[in-house]
Amino acid sequence: MDEKNMGKVWLVGAGPGDVGLFTQRGREVLEQAEVVVYDALVGQGILGLIPESAELIFAGKRAGNHFLRQEQTNQVLLDKALEGKRVVRLKGGDPFLFGRGGEELELLAEHNVPFEIVPGITSAFAVPAYNGIPVTHRDFCSSVHIITGHRRADHSYDIDFEALVRTKGTLVFLMGIAALPDICGGLLQAGMDPEMPAAVLERGTTAAQRRISGTLGTLEEICSRTTVQTPAIIVVGKVCSVADQFAWYEKKPLAGVKVMVTRPKELISGLSSRLRLQGAEVLELPSIRTVARADDGELQSCIEKLGAGEYDWLVFTSPSGVRIFFEKLFAHGDVRMLAGVKIASIGQGTSKALAKVGLKADFVPTVYDGVTLGKELAQILPEGVRVLIPRAAIGNHELIEGLSAVPGIRITDIATYDTEYTASQVIDVKKSFEEGDVDFAVFTSASTVRGFAGSVEGLDFSKVKAVCIGRQTQEAAAGYGMRTWTAEKATLDSLIKRVGEAARETEES
Ligand code: SAH
Repeated sequence: MDEKNMGKVWLVGAGPGDVGLFTQRGREVLEQAEVVVYDALVGQGILGLIPESAELIFAGKRAGNHFLRQEQTNQVLLDKALEGKRVVRLKGGDPFLFGRGGEELELLAEHNVPFEIVPGITSAFAVPAYNGIPVTHRDFCSSVHIITGHRRADHSYDIDFEALVRTKGTLVFLMGIAALPDICGGLLQAGMDPEMPAAVLERGTTAAQRRISGTLGTLEEICSRTTVQTPAIIVVGKVCSVADQFAWYEKKPLAGVKVMVTRPKELISGLSSRLRLQGAEVLELPSIRTVARADDGELQSCIEKLGAGEYDWLVFTSPSGVRIFFEKLFAHGDVRMLAGVKIASIGQGTSKALAKVGLKADFVPTVYDGVTLGKELAQILPEGVRVLIPRAAIGNHELIEGLSAVPGIRITDIATYDTEYTASQVIDVKKSFEEGDVDFAVFTSASTVRGFAGSVEGLDFSKVKAVCIGRQTQEAAAGYGMRTWTAEKATLDSLIKRVGEAARETEES
């Protein structure tokens, strides 16, 4: 094999679940990946960051079934690297902590395949932290120990309970839920105080996070009364006593709420980061993508006419519309081409996009939708006005109908971009909604509703709770049979507030 053509493997820790706990380095590497081999424990939010072009290989274990045996996984990494690919091996938490990361490197090293390690935030520390448990505390202990509760092939444990009790340190057990009775029993038998605080921490750093607190003597019995959801860790030690006092994650306004956001990729992050700041778990599903149309000369000619003073008003109905129009305009000239032209913007997001090119809208409707824009703008436009509307190919008719009320108006409605629907390769959206794993879908336009509906096959839409911006968006969602909530105003703040209200309403019912 020629050295130059050899690919490379990055062994990357994805962290415990929350996409915010994925490292900067991990993101950079993932963005460049050509092949991604991932495990079941990798957070959905992180799977959403995998580039669409990457080949995806699931190497996890589901319901006891190994999709790939360890040797097969090792072989896949080697084969893909030898094909010259950039391979990312994505693992939950930190790749070297009970992640078999070391084993996966052996074969690569034997074949001189280059590799890098990107450490991850381990669940052993992050999950207690998200539950208000500091793994060490000067008043309580001077060490912390991470132990696997996994049994060997002959069903025996490799745990020296007496040694653990002697350390007087905090004990964190991973993969230990099935072994909970043995772990508690082993520690008690080795002489640990039955009153020692202990906790089971389920699905940490996600919307499904839950803490079951007790003592070494009671934990097993408390857990037997409920279904413990995995993944989960067991923490034993005095530090568990401060959990209720220090718990913070569950107090965030949108804690426990899992939201799916469907927006074109370039706009998705603003809304998502604000939802996350409020404590929601956000799944980004770019169900629609905007693609600039190849110009057959029509847009160019409109821009030339604009420069020649042949239009009085420019109307924008989306941030993408603004971006695509100005890319074209700047290829020919600069903002002086707009001298004397008035500008209408459908709402905040569009106005923001205008601000980026140094422009302020002369007109914004009171309600940010096409119908209101058409109606209200028509009231101020003079007779015979000439209007240019560069927008999506699937733009709605209501705007044009509203404007048509102006006598003698001349409208040039030009399609500058198409809206393409994309489906997620990694997240089973249908299952997520049907099993109630996702609480809400958030829609910011009717086209995202249609994009979402078109990209999930066979989903019973009455299972989807939709929080929408704008009446048209709400109508589109309701049209599919979704249960809907509409933001009072067409702003992200108002939308986020509505998510909180919907969450409280559905929790009560
Ligand atoms: N390398 C991983 C651990 C792999 S072993 C890490 O550093 O986190 C898998 C075990 O990790 C699970 O059985 C569970 O005990 C724990 N685990 C991983 N993610 C978790 C989460 N979000 N919440 C609770 N436990 C988790």
